[in-house]
Amino acid sequence: MKTLGFAWRYRNAEREVYNLLHALSMSAHDYVGQWFENDLVKAKFMFWATIGGNVGPYSPGTAFYLVTHLIGQTGMSFCKGGMGAIADAIAASGEAEGMEIQCDTWVEEILVRDGRTYGVRLRSGEEIHASRVVSNVNVKRTFLDMVDRSHLPEEFVEDVEGFRARGMGFKLLCAVDRLPQYKGFSQEKTGVDYPAYAHICPTPEFLEQAFHDAKFGWYSQEPFLSPNVPSYTDPTLAPEGKHVVVFQGGVTPYELRNSDWDREGPQVVRNAFAVMDRFAPGFSDSVIDHKLITPKDIEADINMPGGNSQHGELTLDQIFFMRPVPRYADYRSPVKCLYQCGASTHPGGAVSAVPGQNAAREILKDWRWRA
Ligand SMILES: Cc1cc2nc3c(=O)[nH]c(=O)nc-3n(C[C@H](O)[C@H](O)[C@H](O)COP(=O)(O)OP(=O)(O)OC[C@H]3O[C@@H](n4cnc5c(N)ncnc54)[C@H](O)[C@@H]3O)c2cc1C
Repeated sequence: MKTLGFAWRYRNAEREVYNLLHALSMSAHDYVGQWFENDLVKAKFMFWATIGGNVGPYSPGTAFYLVTHLIGQTGMSFCKGGMGAIADAIAASGEAEGMEIQCDTWVEEILVRDGRTYGVRLRSGEEIHASRVVSNVNVKRTFLDMVDRSHLPEEFVEDVEGFRARGMGFKLLCAVDRLPQYKGFSQEKTGVDYPAYAHICPTPEFLEQAFHDAKFGWYSQEPFLSPNVPSYTDPTLAPEGKHVVVFQGGVTPYELRNSDWDREGPQVVRNAFAVMDRFAPGFSDSVIDHKLITPKDIEADINMPGGNSQHGELTLDQIFFMRPVPRYADYRSPVKCLYQCGASTHPGGAVSAVPGQNAAREILKDWRWRA
Protein backbone atom coordinates (compact mmCIF):
# COMPACT_ATOMS: atom_id res chain seq x y z
CA MET A 1 0.00 0.00 0.00
CA LYS A 2 2.82 2.33 0.99
CA THR A 3 4.64 1.63 -2.29
CA LEU A 4 1.49 2.35 -4.29
CA GLY A 5 1.02 5.63 -2.45
CA PHE A 6 4.61 6.58 -3.16
CA ALA A 7 4.26 5.71 -6.85
CA TRP A 8 1.03 7.75 -7.10
CA ARG A 9 2.55 10.78 -5.41
CA TYR A 10 5.46 10.83 -7.85
CA ARG A 11 3.53 9.73 -10.95
CA ASN A 12 4.37 12.98 -12.75
CA ALA A 13 8.03 12.95 -11.80
CA GLU A 14 8.93 10.45 -14.49
CA ARG A 15 10.83 12.99 -16.58
CA GLU A 16 12.86 14.21 -13.58
CA VAL A 17 13.73 10.65 -12.58
CA TYR A 18 15.06 9.96 -16.08
CA ASN A 19 17.03 13.20 -16.00
CA LEU A 20 18.55 12.27 -12.66
CA LEU A 21 19.45 8.79 -13.87
CA HIS A 22 21.07 10.28 -16.96
CA ALA A 23 23.08 12.71 -14.86
CA LEU A 24 24.22 9.91 -12.58
CA SER A 25 25.10 7.34 -15.18
CA MET A 26 26.10 9.03 -18.44
CA SER A 27 29.52 10.21 -19.48
CA ALA A 28 30.00 13.97 -19.45
CA HIS A 29 30.80 13.74 -23.16
CA ASP A 30 27.46 12.12 -24.06
CA TYR A 31 25.54 14.26 -21.61
CA VAL A 32 26.80 17.53 -23.06
CA GLY A 33 26.37 16.11 -26.57
CA GLN A 34 22.59 16.08 -26.00
CA TRP A 35 22.59 19.86 -26.29
CA PHE A 36 25.73 20.95 -28.10
CA GLU A 37 27.50 20.02 -31.32
CA ASN A 38 30.45 22.39 -31.22
CA ASP A 39 33.58 20.80 -29.74
CA LEU A 40 34.76 24.02 -28.12
CA VAL A 41 31.48 24.48 -26.31
CA LYS A 42 31.37 20.82 -25.31
CA ALA A 43 34.92 20.95 -23.96
CA LYS A 44 34.20 24.13 -22.02
CA PHE A 45 31.42 22.37 -20.10
CA MET A 46 33.16 19.02 -19.89
CA PHE A 47 36.03 20.68 -18.05
CA TRP A 48 33.84 20.64 -14.95
CA ALA A 49 33.68 16.87 -15.18
CA THR A 50 37.42 16.66 -14.56
CA ILE A 51 37.00 17.67 -10.91
CA GLY A 52 36.13 14.98 -8.44
CA GLY A 53 37.03 11.66 -9.92
CA ASN A 54 39.89 9.76 -11.40
CA VAL A 55 38.50 9.01 -14.84
CA GLY A 56 38.19 11.06 -18.00
CA PRO A 57 34.97 12.71 -19.20
CA TYR A 58 34.26 9.92 -21.68
CA SER A 59 33.71 7.49 -18.80
CA PRO A 60 30.22 6.61 -17.55
CA GLY A 61 29.26 8.48 -14.39
CA THR A 62 31.22 11.64 -15.15
CA ALA A 63 28.11 13.63 -16.13
CA PHE A 64 27.43 13.80 -12.42
CA TYR A 65 30.68 15.67 -11.71
CA LEU A 66 29.68 18.23 -14.29
CA VAL A 67 26.15 18.65 -12.96
CA THR A 68 27.26 18.86 -9.36
CA HIS A 69 29.76 21.63 -10.13
CA LEU A 70 27.28 23.65 -12.14
CA ILE A 71 24.30 23.46 -9.78
CA GLY A 72 23.46 26.98 -8.69
CA GLN A 73 26.53 28.42 -10.33
CA THR A 74 26.19 31.84 -11.84
CA GLY A 75 29.85 32.43 -12.56
CA MET A 76 33.19 32.23 -10.84
CA SER A 77 33.67 34.24 -7.67
CA PHE A 78 36.85 35.60 -6.17
CA CYS A 79 37.21 36.42 -2.53
CA LYS A 80 38.67 39.84 -1.71
CA GLY A 81 41.91 39.31 0.22
CA GLY A 82 42.24 35.70 -0.97
CA MET A 83 40.52 32.53 0.27
CA GLY A 84 41.93 33.03 3.77
CA ALA A 85 39.58 35.99 4.12
CA ILE A 86 36.62 33.57 4.22
CA ALA A 87 38.14 31.70 7.17
CA ASP A 88 38.88 35.05 8.84
CA ALA A 89 35.28 36.17 8.36
CA ILE A 90 33.91 32.92 9.83
CA ALA A 91 36.34 33.23 12.75
CA ALA A 92 35.33 36.83 13.43
CA SER A 93 31.67 35.90 13.35
CA GLY A 94 32.22 32.97 15.74
CA GLU A 95 34.37 35.00 18.11
CA ALA A 96 31.64 37.61 18.31
CA GLU A 97 29.44 34.78 19.69
CA GLY A 98 32.08 33.71 22.21
CA MET A 99 33.78 30.99 20.17
CA GLU A 100 37.43 30.28 21.04
CA ILE A 101 39.77 29.24 18.24
CA GLN A 102 43.14 27.48 18.50
CA CYS A 103 45.22 27.30 15.34
CA ASP A 104 48.23 25.04 14.78
CA THR A 105 46.86 22.71 17.40
CA TRP A 106 47.13 19.06 16.45
CA VAL A 107 44.42 16.69 17.64
CA GLU A 108 46.03 13.36 18.41
CA GLU A 109 42.99 11.47 19.64
CA ILE A 110 39.24 11.78 19.90
CA LEU A 111 38.41 10.58 23.40
CA VAL A 112 35.70 7.94 23.75
CA ARG A 113 34.23 6.27 26.80
CA ASP A 114 31.31 3.82 26.79
CA GLY A 115 30.62 4.49 23.12
CA ARG A 116 30.42 8.24 23.55
CA THR A 117 32.97 10.98 22.91
CA TYR A 118 33.95 13.32 25.70
CA GLY A 119 36.57 15.48 24.00
CA VAL A 120 39.97 15.42 22.33
CA ARG A 121 43.58 14.95 23.33
CA LEU A 122 46.06 17.30 21.70
CA ARG A 123 49.59 16.45 20.62
CA SER A 124 50.80 18.46 23.62
CA GLY A 125 49.01 15.95 25.84
CA GLU A 126 46.39 18.46 26.93
CA GLU A 127 42.84 17.12 26.99
CA ILE A 128 39.92 19.33 26.04
CA HIS A 129 36.67 17.90 27.31
CA ALA A 130 33.39 18.53 25.52
CA SER A 131 29.92 17.09 25.23
CA ARG A 132 30.23 16.98 21.43
CA VAL A 133 33.08 16.72 18.94
CA VAL A 134 32.59 17.75 15.31
CA SER A 135 35.31 16.85 12.81
CA ASN A 136 35.88 18.28 9.33
CA VAL A 137 39.13 16.32 9.00
CA ASN A 138 39.06 13.74 6.20
CA VAL A 139 36.97 10.71 7.21
CA LYS A 140 39.96 8.38 6.97
CA ARG A 141 42.04 10.47 9.34
CA THR A 142 39.14 11.07 11.72
CA PHE A 143 38.21 7.43 12.18
CA LEU A 144 41.30 5.45 11.25
CA ASP A 145 43.84 7.62 13.09
CA MET A 146 42.05 9.59 15.78
CA VAL A 147 39.50 7.14 17.17
CA ASP A 148 40.64 3.94 18.82
CA ARG A 149 39.33 1.13 16.62
CA SER A 150 37.93 -0.77 19.56
CA HIS A 151 35.14 1.84 19.61
CA LEU A 152 34.13 1.29 15.98
CA PRO A 153 32.18 -1.52 14.29
CA GLU A 154 34.39 -3.60 12.02
CA GLU A 155 32.13 -3.03 9.02
CA PHE A 156 32.35 0.74 9.46
CA VAL A 157 36.15 0.59 9.60
CA GLU A 158 36.21 -1.48 6.41
CA ASP A 159 33.94 1.02 4.66
CA VAL A 160 36.10 3.97 5.72
CA GLU A 161 39.22 2.14 4.58
CA GLY A 162 37.52 1.65 1.22
CA PHE A 163 36.68 5.36 0.78
CA ARG A 164 38.65 6.30 -2.34
CA ALA A 165 40.52 9.50 -1.69
CA ARG A 166 43.28 9.73 -4.25
CA GLY A 167 43.58 13.01 -6.07
CA MET A 168 44.51 13.54 -9.71
CA GLY A 169 44.71 17.30 -10.00
CA PHE A 170 47.54 19.75 -9.50
CA LYS A 171 47.66 23.36 -8.54
CA LEU A 172 50.31 25.70 -9.90
CA LEU A 173 50.79 29.11 -8.32
CA CYS A 174 52.61 31.72 -10.42
CA ALA A 175 53.79 35.24 -9.75
CA VAL A 176 53.94 37.05 -13.10
CA ASP A 177 55.04 40.46 -14.29
CA ARG A 178 52.09 40.97 -16.65
CA LEU A 179 48.59 39.71 -17.31
CA PRO A 180 48.37 36.65 -19.57
CA GLN A 181 47.20 37.74 -23.02
CA TYR A 182 44.98 35.10 -24.62
CA LYS A 183 45.11 34.80 -28.41
CA GLY A 184 41.49 33.75 -28.62
CA PHE A 185 40.03 36.44 -26.40
CA SER A 186 38.26 39.46 -27.82
CA GLN A 187 36.93 42.19 -25.57
CA GLU A 188 34.76 43.38 -28.41
CA LYS A 189 33.11 40.02 -29.09
CA THR A 190 32.58 39.01 -25.49
CA GLY A 191 31.85 42.34 -23.85
CA VAL A 192 34.12 41.16 -21.02
CA ASP A 193 37.07 43.31 -19.93
CA TYR A 194 39.39 40.43 -19.20
CA PRO A 195 38.96 36.65 -18.69
CA ALA A 196 40.15 36.45 -15.08
CA TYR A 197 38.97 32.83 -15.08
CA ALA A 198 39.46 30.57 -18.10
CA HIS A 199 39.36 26.93 -19.17
CA ILE A 200 42.10 25.73 -21.49
CA CYS A 201 40.91 22.55 -23.15
CA PRO A 202 40.31 23.02 -26.88
CA THR A 203 38.52 19.73 -27.55
CA PRO A 204 36.83 16.91 -25.64
CA GLU A 205 39.63 14.58 -26.85
CA PHE A 206 42.23 16.88 -25.30
CA LEU A 207 40.62 16.36 -21.89
CA GLU A 208 40.28 12.62 -22.32
CA GLN A 209 43.87 12.28 -23.52
CA ALA A 210 45.11 14.01 -20.37
CA PHE A 211 43.41 11.29 -18.30
CA HIS A 212 44.64 8.59 -20.64
CA ASP A 213 48.26 9.45 -19.77
CA ALA A 214 47.46 9.30 -16.07
CA LYS A 215 45.62 5.98 -16.27
CA PHE A 216 48.91 4.17 -16.53
CA GLY A 217 50.72 5.92 -13.70
CA TRP A 218 52.06 8.92 -15.56
CA TYR A 219 51.12 12.58 -15.90
CA SER A 220 49.60 14.42 -18.82
CA GLN A 221 51.96 15.54 -21.52
CA GLU A 222 49.44 18.24 -22.43
CA PRO A 223 47.56 19.10 -19.25
CA PHE A 224 44.22 20.88 -19.31
CA LEU A 225 44.35 24.07 -17.29
CA SER A 226 42.06 26.55 -15.62
CA PRO A 227 44.12 29.70 -15.12
CA ASN A 228 42.59 32.32 -12.91
CA VAL A 229 43.96 35.71 -12.00
CA PRO A 230 42.56 36.77 -8.62
CA SER A 231 44.81 39.85 -8.60
CA TYR A 232 42.88 41.20 -11.58
CA THR A 233 39.85 41.83 -9.38
CA ASP A 234 41.79 42.30 -6.13
CA PRO A 235 44.97 44.38 -6.63
CA THR A 236 45.95 43.90 -2.96
CA LEU A 237 47.13 40.38 -3.86
CA ALA A 238 50.18 41.51 -5.87
CA PRO A 239 52.55 44.49 -6.12
CA GLU A 240 51.55 47.14 -8.63
CA GLY A 241 51.91 45.96 -12.22
CA LYS A 242 52.38 42.32 -11.15
CA HIS A 243 49.83 39.52 -10.94
CA VAL A 244 49.10 36.17 -9.39
CA VAL A 245 48.01 33.40 -11.76
CA VAL A 246 46.62 30.28 -10.14
CA PHE A 247 46.21 27.17 -12.28
CA GLN A 248 44.22 24.10 -11.49
CA GLY A 249 44.93 21.36 -13.93
CA GLY A 250 45.36 17.73 -14.61
CA VAL A 251 46.21 15.08 -14.65
CA THR A 252 48.77 14.22 -11.99
CA PRO A 253 48.12 10.88 -10.31
CA TYR A 254 48.92 10.46 -6.64
CA GLU A 255 51.51 7.83 -7.41
CA LEU A 256 53.84 7.60 -10.40
CA ARG A 257 55.07 4.46 -12.06
CA ASN A 258 58.82 4.08 -11.42
CA SER A 259 59.32 7.70 -10.40
CA ASP A 260 58.27 10.30 -7.86
CA TRP A 261 57.02 13.85 -7.77
CA ASP A 262 60.31 15.39 -6.64
CA ARG A 263 61.81 14.17 -9.87
CA GLU A 264 58.87 14.79 -12.20
CA GLY A 265 57.47 18.04 -10.77
CA PRO A 266 59.63 20.33 -12.97
CA GLN A 267 58.44 18.54 -16.13
CA VAL A 268 54.78 18.97 -15.11
CA VAL A 269 55.46 22.70 -14.84
CA ARG A 270 57.15 22.76 -18.26
CA ASN A 271 54.18 20.89 -19.78
CA ALA A 272 51.73 23.34 -18.22
CA PHE A 273 53.71 26.37 -19.41
CA ALA A 274 53.95 24.92 -22.94
CA VAL A 275 50.14 24.57 -23.10
CA MET A 276 49.68 28.05 -21.68
CA ASP A 277 52.16 29.55 -24.18
CA ARG A 278 50.11 28.10 -27.04
CA PHE A 279 47.02 29.97 -25.90
CA ALA A 280 48.62 32.98 -24.21
CA PRO A 281 51.92 33.51 -26.05
CA GLY A 282 54.79 34.71 -23.90
CA PHE A 283 53.24 33.53 -20.66
CA SER A 284 56.24 31.50 -19.48
CA ASP A 285 58.52 34.53 -19.98
CA SER A 286 56.32 36.52 -17.62
CA VAL A 287 56.72 34.08 -14.71
CA ILE A 288 58.82 35.47 -11.85
CA ASP A 289 58.34 32.49 -9.55
CA HIS A 290 56.10 29.47 -9.23
CA LYS A 291 55.09 26.65 -6.92
CA LEU A 292 53.61 23.31 -7.94
CA ILE A 293 51.24 21.49 -5.60
CA THR A 294 50.57 17.81 -6.34
CA PRO A 295 48.19 15.43 -4.54
CA LYS A 296 51.17 14.26 -2.44
CA ASP A 297 51.75 17.86 -1.29
CA ILE A 298 48.08 18.34 -0.44
CA GLU A 299 48.21 15.12 1.57
CA ALA A 300 51.24 16.31 3.52
CA ASP A 301 50.14 19.94 3.95
CA ILE A 302 46.68 19.35 5.39
CA ASN A 303 46.81 15.74 6.53
CA MET A 304 44.49 14.64 3.75
CA PRO A 305 45.21 11.08 2.64
CA GLY A 306 45.39 10.82 -1.14
CA GLY A 307 45.24 14.58 -1.66
CA ASN A 308 41.87 14.64 -3.44
CA SER A 309 40.60 18.23 -3.42
CA GLN A 310 37.11 16.92 -2.58
CA HIS A 311 38.40 14.72 0.30
CA GLY A 312 37.32 11.73 -1.79
CA GLU A 313 36.01 10.86 -5.22
CA LEU A 314 32.49 11.96 -6.08
CA THR A 315 31.56 8.70 -7.73
CA LEU A 316 28.11 7.12 -7.60
CA ASP A 317 29.16 4.82 -4.75
CA GLN A 318 30.50 7.76 -2.69
CA ILE A 319 27.73 10.32 -2.95
CA PHE A 320 24.37 11.16 -1.37
CA PHE A 321 23.38 8.55 1.23
CA MET A 322 26.67 6.72 0.75
CA ARG A 323 29.00 9.65 1.55
CA PRO A 324 31.31 9.05 3.21
CA VAL A 325 30.01 5.54 3.90
CA PRO A 326 26.62 3.81 3.96
CA ARG A 327 24.64 4.07 7.22
CA TYR A 328 26.72 7.04 8.41
CA ALA A 329 25.88 9.59 5.74
CA ASP A 330 23.83 11.71 8.13
CA TYR A 331 26.80 13.57 9.69
CA ARG A 332 26.71 11.23 12.70
CA SER A 333 29.10 8.37 13.44
CA PRO A 334 29.16 5.09 15.36
CA VAL A 335 30.47 7.06 18.36
CA LYS A 336 27.75 8.98 20.15
CA CYS A 337 28.12 12.78 19.97
CA LEU A 338 30.96 12.57 17.43
CA TYR A 339 29.83 14.27 14.23
CA GLN A 340 31.34 14.75 10.77
CA CYS A 341 30.99 18.08 8.96
CA GLY A 342 33.63 18.27 6.21
CA ALA A 343 34.00 17.59 2.51
CA SER A 344 34.06 13.84 3.18
CA THR A 345 30.32 14.15 3.82
CA HIS A 346 27.48 15.00 1.43
CA PRO A 347 27.62 16.94 -0.87
CA GLY A 348 31.43 16.80 -0.92
CA GLY A 349 34.14 19.37 -1.47
CA ALA A 350 34.16 23.04 -2.46
CA VAL A 351 33.91 26.14 -0.35
CA SER A 352 30.14 25.79 -0.14
CA ALA A 353 29.63 25.44 3.62
CA VAL A 354 26.85 22.96 2.83
CA PRO A 355 28.31 19.98 4.75
CA GLY A 356 28.80 22.25 7.77
CA GLN A 357 25.29 23.61 7.61
CA ASN A 358 23.77 20.14 7.23
CA ALA A 359 25.85 18.85 10.13
CA ALA A 360 24.77 21.77 12.33
CA ARG A 361 21.13 20.99 11.54
CA GLU A 362 21.56 17.35 12.61
CA ILE A 363 23.49 18.27 15.76
CA LEU A 364 20.75 20.70 16.76
CA LYS A 365 18.11 18.04 16.13
CA ASP A 366 19.89 15.64 18.52
CA TRP A 367 20.41 18.44 21.01
CA ARG A 368 16.72 19.37 21.07
CA TRP A 369 15.70 15.75 21.31
CA ARG A 370 17.90 15.29 24.39
CA ALA A 371 16.76 18.55 26.00
C1 LIG B 1 44.30 22.36 -4.34
C2 LIG B 1 42.85 22.59 -4.03
C3 LIG B 1 42.14 23.51 -4.78
C4 LIG B 1 40.78 23.74 -4.52
N1 LIG B 1 40.11 24.68 -5.25
C5 LIG B 1 38.83 24.97 -4.95
C6 LIG B 1 38.12 26.00 -5.63
O1 LIG B 1 38.66 26.66 -6.51
N2 LIG B 1 36.84 26.25 -5.29
C7 LIG B 1 36.22 25.54 -4.31
O2 LIG B 1 35.06 25.81 -4.02
N3 LIG B 1 36.86 24.55 -3.64
C8 LIG B 1 38.14 24.25 -3.94
N4 LIG B 1 38.79 23.24 -3.28
C9 LIG B 1 38.03 22.41 -2.35
C10 LIG B 1 37.87 23.04 -1.01
O3 LIG B 1 39.02 23.76 -0.66
C11 LIG B 1 37.62 21.94 0.02
O4 LIG B 1 36.57 21.11 -0.40
C12 LIG B 1 37.26 22.55 1.37
O5 LIG B 1 38.31 23.38 1.84
C13 LIG B 1 37.01 21.46 2.37
O6 LIG B 1 36.82 22.07 3.63
P1 LIG B 1 36.70 21.20 4.93
O7 LIG B 1 36.57 22.13 6.06
O8 LIG B 1 35.67 20.16 4.73
O9 LIG B 1 38.06 20.36 5.05
P2 LIG B 1 39.59 20.81 4.99
O10 LIG B 1 39.73 22.09 4.26
O11 LIG B 1 40.33 19.60 4.50
O12 LIG B 1 39.94 21.09 6.51
C14 LIG B 1 40.39 20.10 7.39
C15 LIG B 1 41.37 20.78 8.30
O13 LIG B 1 41.73 19.90 9.35
C16 LIG B 1 43.11 20.04 9.60
N5 LIG B 1 43.60 18.82 10.26
C17 LIG B 1 43.88 17.62 9.71
N6 LIG B 1 44.28 16.75 10.64
C18 LIG B 1 44.24 17.42 11.83
C19 LIG B 1 44.54 17.05 13.17
N7 LIG B 1 44.94 15.82 13.49
N8 LIG B 1 44.40 17.98 14.14
C20 LIG B 1 43.98 19.24 13.84
N9 LIG B 1 43.67 19.65 12.58
C21 LIG B 1 43.81 18.74 11.59
C22 LIG B 1 43.72 20.24 8.23
O14 LIG B 1 44.98 20.84 8.32
C23 LIG B 1 42.67 21.15 7.59
O15 LIG B 1 42.95 22.49 7.83
C24 LIG B 1 40.14 23.02 -3.50
C25 LIG B 1 40.88 22.11 -2.73
C26 LIG B 1 42.22 21.90 -2.98
C27 LIG B 1 42.99 20.92 -2.13
